[in-house]
Amino acid sequence: MAEDTASGTQPGADAPFLLTPGPLTTAAEVRQAMLRDLGSWDSDFREMTARLRACLLEMAGRGREAHDCVPMQGSGTFAVEAMLGSFIPRDGKALVLANGAYGQRIAAILRTLGRDHVVIDKGDYLPPRGAEVAAALAGDPSISDVVVVHCETSSGILNPVEEIAEATAAAGRRLLIDSMSAFGALPLAPAEVPFEAMVSSANKCIEGVPGFGFVIARRQALERAKGNSHSLSLDLHDQWAYMERTGQWRFTPPTHVVAAFLKALELHAAEGGTAGRLARYERNRDVLVEGMRALGFETLLNARWLSPIIVTFFTPADPAFSFARFYELLKAKGFIIYPGKLTVVDSFRIGCIGRLDETVMRGVVRAAGEALAEMGVRSAAPPPEALAERARLSAA
Ligand SMILES: *Cc1c(COP(=O)(O)O)cnc(C)c1O
Repeated sequence: MAEDTASGTQPGADAPFLLTPGPLTTAAEVRQAMLRDLGSWDSDFREMTARLRACLLEMAGRGREAHDCVPMQGSGTFAVEAMLGSFIPRDGKALVLANGAYGQRIAAILRTLGRDHVVIDKGDYLPPRGAEVAAALAGDPSISDVVVVHCETSSGILNPVEEIAEATAAAGRRLLIDSMSAFGALPLAPAEVPFEAMVSSANKCIEGVPGFGFVIARRQALERAKGNSHSLSLDLHDQWAYMERTGQWRFTPPTHVVAAFLKALELHAAEGGTAGRLARYERNRDVLVEGMRALGFETLLNARWLSPIIVTFFTPADPAFSFARFYELLKAKGFIIYPGKLTVVDSFRIGCIGRLDETVMRGVVRAAGEALAEMGVRSAAPPPEALAERARLSAA
């Protein structure tokens, strides 16, 4: 974007744009904010931590009054594990709604922690629906908590969290949300989507650098979590109580990452908050999808479930196409894309999030067209099985 170009640090062939769902392309100002060392106990840093928590809570939107925000060191998964271990009672039982790698990871964490759980597995990319959740909860009174992924980044599907929250609340259970790749771009206000806790991280839609995650949870839940965690370092009650008391993080905080994140929060607000960011990401997606379709590529998902976070494209059937070659050609032109994660058909993904605008997206499409020509690919159309798979999806 303009300020990056002006400072001469714009991504290019030696520093490509990251079209990946985090780490992602950040603004030069965000990277520059890391050039100062900060003492973790110092009042300046305590003030920064307080500002960070207040801004994130405000971002949650309507109905946040009963909630609080607790940052946690580590990548996003550390915060997911902290949320699950702190809030699901040791004698509770979770219903995990899985439709991709991140839902599977939630089940894997619960297995590792030895917490009782059942999984509704929708495969690679069918959305879990409110009615299924209602039926599962009616059939098993021992389920205490429902866990759902907001945007399942492995396919890019936007799961219907509103209807799932409604079914969960109607059955008197608690909802935990992995909104890692959605929060900051997609609304998630407790007034509309009642949740016990949600988790996200610094390096997704808020466009910071990696180093910590954060949980927004009902204060009651944070109080109730005392003594429940399986872990010392991932205990959200303890982190929260200590932060409330001292204004500091319990253990060494990622000081530079926090400084960068505060700059990212400023840019988020300047762009018009969550609504402004969503508008840019939707525009990125629309330009990308339209351009790629014009080249003959097809998206896995139909419009209804297509998120503005990341888009999955089928790998072309033409035998001249090689993903490894395509990846290297795009990288040489200044764009890093992402391999696919589906089990049935081959695919690849292109992210729409990060400090990218429609000019960048047009650049990716142009580079993809050139790469096809360089490989001698005549058609980017997917194999017939891929389209059959998609037809199955639209029936859901
Ligand atoms: C990125 C992401 C995570 C966390 O991944 P880390 O690699 O641990 O940061 C979790 N859930 C979803 C949906 C994600 O997109």
